[in-house]
Amino acid sequence: MAYDPDNVFAKILRGEIPCKKVYEDDFALAFHDIAPQAPVHVLVIPKGAYVSLDDFTQEAPDALIAGFVRALGKVARQLGLDDTGYRLLANTGRDGGQEVPHLHVHLFGGRMLGRMLAKAD
Ligand code: AMP
Repeated sequence: MAYDPDNVFAKILRGEIPCKKVYEDDFALAFHDIAPQAPVHVLVIPKGAYVSLDDFTQEAPDALIAGFVRALGKVARQLGLDDTGYRLLANTGRDGGQEVPHLHVHLFGGRMLGRMLAKAD
């Protein structure tokens, strides 16, 4: 799938629409999810045009992959979640339920998060 430069997270990266920023460095931007599903629900996105984790792990340079993964840990620590724990989730493609076609990792925390997946319908 080709990258759509008009997706909502691309617009956030370009500063065209606002976000509630949590963290930013050369590799990543983190901001609060607009519809939080836990007391802490932050999205971490790489600085680069990558549709999904599948795209990112094939196409991104090693330095960006390393910087992005480090940023995940930095954001969690900055939010004070390293003691209590947290969950990372990267919905990927159709079966993963990915809605926004720019790689994003959900960071959930602030309560016991329960079972890993909801029961199948
Ligand atoms: P996914 O289903 O993994 O693609 O999740 C997309 C997430 O992006 C959802 O949790 C939405 O609530 C969130 N979202 C969509 N638009 C925005 C926005 N403008 N700012 C922050 N979060 C957003």
